[in-house]
Amino acid sequence: MFHDVVVIGGGGAGLRAAIAVAETNPRLSVAIVSKVYPMRSHTVSAEGGAAGVAAEDDSLDEHAYDTVSGSDWLCDQDAVEAFVHEAPRELLRLEHWGCPWSRQPDGRIAVRAFGGMKKKRTWFAADRTGFHLLHTLFQTALSYTDIVRYDEWYVTKILVDDGRAYGVVAIELATGRIETITASTVIVCTGGCGRVYPFTTNANIKTGDGMALAYRAGAPLKDMEFVQYHPTGLPFTGILITEAARAEGGWLLNKDGYRYLQDYDLGTASPTPVMRSMELGPRDRLSQAFVHEMEKGRTIDTPYGPIVHLDLRHLGAKLIDAKLPFVRELCSKYQNIDPVSELVPVRPVVHYMMGGVHTDIHGATPVQGLYAAGETACVSINGANRLGSNSLPECLVFGNRAGRAAAVFAGRYGDANVPRAILAQGRDEQRRLEQDLGRHANGRERIADIRTEMQTTMENGTGIYRDRDSMEKAADKLRELQERFAKAAIDDHSQTFNTELVALLELSFMLDVAESIVACALRREESRGAHQRTDFPDRDDDRYLAHSLIQRGSDGTGRVRYLPVTITRWPPGERVYGR
Ligand SMILES: Cc1cc2nc3c(=O)[nH]c(=O)nc-3n(C[C@H](O)[C@H](O)[C@H](O)COP(=O)(O)OP(=O)(O)OC[C@H]3O[C@@H](n4cnc5c(N)ncnc54)[C@H](O)[C@@H]3O)c2cc1C
Repeated sequence: MFHDVVVIGGGGAGLRAAIAVAETNPRLSVAIVSKVYPMRSHTVSAEGGAAGVAAEDDSLDEHAYDTVSGSDWLCDQDAVEAFVHEAPRELLRLEHWGCPWSRQPDGRIAVRAFGGMKKKRTWFAADRTGFHLLHTLFQTALSYTDIVRYDEWYVTKILVDDGRAYGVVAIELATGRIETITASTVIVCTGGCGRVYPFTTNANIKTGDGMALAYRAGAPLKDMEFVQYHPTGLPFTGILITEAARAEGGWLLNKDGYRYLQDYDLGTASPTPVMRSMELGPRDRLSQAFVHEMEKGRTIDTPYGPIVHLDLRHLGAKLIDAKLPFVRELCSKYQNIDPVSELVPVRPVVHYMMGGVHTDIHGATPVQGLYAAGETACVSINGANRLGSNSLPECLVFGNRAGRAAAVFAGRYGDANVPRAILAQGRDEQRRLEQDLGRHANGRERIADIRTEMQTTMENGTGIYRDRDSMEKAADKLRELQERFAKAAIDDHSQTFNTELVALLELSFMLDVAESIVACALRREESRGAHQRTDFPDRDDDRYLAHSLIQRGSDGTGRVRYLPVTITRWPPGERVYGR
């Protein structure tokens, strides 16, 4: 099997990348390999919206500045400038492809406020933005006959020879067949890794596979210590109550019914009218405020941990049904409450990875022919803290860029005659997978036990607040879990949809990702954005205005080094949102 470009992942970034390849060079054959049917990718669950300057009183510079300060100056400003410039065009293209954006009464695109954004610039399709966006991309991709899909195929390895990627090995889940799919270029669009933690908004499939695949293939991971907690998840399920609920006017109340955020410095010192609501402070600061309320005994204990309340009652049924219908549906189905008349219990929940596979602004990794885009990549526009609604447009802008760059590379250097060593590697991987099934048949450790212990370790070691002691303990525990993983048991030996085998492979990827998060977090002796250390409470620009890069050594352990951030126009300053 050979394709000029293999895209791993059929979410927002993967579909956008595949379309970009087909548009750039119609002679190329593109494969999308996805472990789930593309419409089931996590992008489908995005609710709130996608940022892109549209209003007359807004400007690209303001979107860029908000993103830069939101990132606590850890993003690359050249990437941010490209991003804000191309985001509105991408959103407009989606409109032309059929995306039903919500509109104002006069027909213009409607935009809503979002956390950390000074102006209203978040486009939305009610509160089902991800569904409509993904659907639009999927149906557009269907119109290109050169895009071939491998739905429900699980990638286990990226094939690399002499510093260049040449394809992947994947299992067809329906049959258990293992195939080598060779290619001139590979684009990793596998999404985030929230499942490394116990309580997350992320779908079960978000296990960081692509991060680990690229890491094992020799690409460094960047800024892995920055894990975003979203302040409002439903307790027990972790289902997200979108920031749009607060953008439309929702309040956060502690156990005394008090809007506690007024007691905290959220960086919204002199709010403009749009940002008057303290509930629209950035996510990292809101999640940190929750921890302080908990320490003061002002949260409410429940069987699923401490909670505060989100109050939407004053918004009224009409507004909630028009702008937040999905929120009402989720609250009713999963919490058995009606936000029109009842308070919604919420607590911070792991939501997004700012870090990921290190790429340049064209999506290229240091491994030749290997590209990455979307949540799995770190370009970086998100730095130490992503602003809500910047991720969907990131998938579009950098999915497009990676697709175009990969198409040019494949057109220039592509060749169906891949090195023999690659085919041998493919056979080795096939043998390893078959042997794994046999070896793990005699295992004694339960996959679920190791996974649960890993998740608890990550929550305790690298949660909203961390320190050296908590992280060193986490690092030791993860080493132990890696050893126990070798003895993990598989009871299911069938070839058809062997979900236990998939769980094993996912756990192996998650353990690598977890170790990289802890290693990077331990090295960064400062507090910035989502990385808050109680033993180093201040930001330290002298030492750490730099990306951390972790590279896998031949012994399997990661080495961390630093890469300066790119600053074009906005020198480091204080994070003030209301300027
Ligand atoms: C509940 C929720 C709400 C959100 N709301 C918003 C919002 O309103 N606005 C916003 O900007 N952002 C939002 N986000 C974030 C945003 O949706 C995601 O960051 C983005 O959609 C990620 O897209 P992606 O294409 O990178 O990955 P995904 O959509 O996660 O797709 C990953 C793809 O990779 C494939 N894959 C993974 N591993 C393998 C493997 N080993 N082999 C084969 N295929 C593989 C999967 O099958 C899937 O197709 C939200 C996130 C969540 C969880």
